[in-house]
Amino acid sequence: MAESIREAYIRRNPKSAALFPRFKQIFPSGGGGHDGYVTSPFPIAIERGLGSRKWDVDGNEYIDYGLGSASLLLGHSHPEVVEALMQAAPSGSHYGAPVEKVLEWGERVCSLIPCADKVRFVGSGAESTALAIRIARAYSGKDKIIRWESHYHGWHDYVMPGNLSPFDVPASTGIPRGAVDSVIVLPPDLAALESILASDNDIAGVITEGSGASYGTVPLEPGFVQGVRDLTRKYDVVMILDEVITGFRWSPGGLQQNLGIEPDLCTMAKILTGGLPGGAVAGREQFMAVMEITGDAQHDRYERVYHGGTFNANPYCAATGNAALNIVATGEMQANADRMAERLRVGLREIVDRYEVAACVYGESSTFHIFFGAKSIDGLDANSLKSAPPEVQTNFRQGLQVRGVDLMSRTSGVLSGVHTEADINQSLEAFDGTIKAMMDEGLISHE
Ligand code: PMP
Repeated sequence: MAESIREAYIRRNPKSAALFPRFKQIFPSGGGGHDGYVTSPFPIAIERGLGSRKWDVDGNEYIDYGLGSASLLLGHSHPEVVEALMQAAPSGSHYGAPVEKVLEWGERVCSLIPCADKVRFVGSGAESTALAIRIARAYSGKDKIIRWESHYHGWHDYVMPGNLSPFDVPASTGIPRGAVDSVIVLPPDLAALESILASDNDIAGVITEGSGASYGTVPLEPGFVQGVRDLTRKYDVVMILDEVITGFRWSPGGLQQNLGIEPDLCTMAKILTGGLPGGAVAGREQFMAVMEITGDAQHDRYERVYHGGTFNANPYCAATGNAALNIVATGEMQANADRMAERLRVGLREIVDRYEVAACVYGESSTFHIFFGAKSIDGLDANSLKSAPPEVQTNFRQGLQVRGVDLMSRTSGVLSGVHTEADINQSLEAFDGTIKAMMDEGLISHE
């Protein structure tokens, strides 16, 4: 009998397999810093990345569509980002004082992002949504935040309700009742939004992944984000657009630039720093003003948003952030990534059609998603679109890995501006082989 996907995975990765018991000894489930790295029988340990490629500890090479959780629009180790880091390294990592490079970084954000009058740097994407939510509450004097089923905004207490199905149970235990009660989770439906806004007078803001949940795995109806903008204006609540993935990727000015919509606040991370730790909240002057320290004792102690963070806006991330945003500003990286993503989606569609598999391929901008279970995603909600059997999703990703391709999640990926046509052609061969192997193993069947 032919070797199964799982057997090939184990055969090709002896060093990763040998490391795994040591990882498990030290880290819960073996995951050093992120639940997403945990997989069966063991995750592949990666050693280095360059351009569109990365290499594991066993010397296997991958065309990478994970790209540091979508942070590497410029590819791994972009020479200008590396150079910026090397230049900055000997000058120290923290001075506890303003740094000109940080000013330049903030100016770049304000010149690129339409809604950015003012910006505040934070330590991660999750911190950016935590701060944006606090600003919305402080500005409005109200408590509740509306969010959409399955949209991902990080792991902190106020964004765990509604993140995973079933949506009425927070995605994590350990979330206090008060936090859960302050979040209203809705299906992405403008009528549902309006009915809550019209009836509940305690809504501070609405937070949205403008691509739809998980960078477009669950797309939104056309006009949805505009609808959120219109209703948040009508009912005077703060609109937070989470651009942690779409920022600088959908266009130099993010998804808000593409749609011509200005949120009140937006959150960013990932590409913002050139792929190092960090994030930011940006927004219109009137909203960011709640962070101002005025010198008025009453105001400063009782009426403002407090914010700190030892490593926020550190000079290393400012250096790489400046290098990255300088490149990102031209739009060329996005244009190439989008073009290659479209080629990949078209090629993938051709493969699933040729094998007559009940699957469909979709995605916007420089992303792609494959849904196993139907020929179209029309009318499918977050529950359905994230419901493909786990063994199908895992074998798909591992089948690709043994053929030299890696994804961001088990059925989705993102591209960089340095992926080439040769990468796409080689990847399509891997996709073809994986779909065929999955059919041979009876994991997926004909339409
Ligand atoms: N928002 C969105 C839309 C994200 O995709 C992510 C991370 N994937 C976050 C927030 C959280 O960012 P971080 O992982 O940097 O905390």
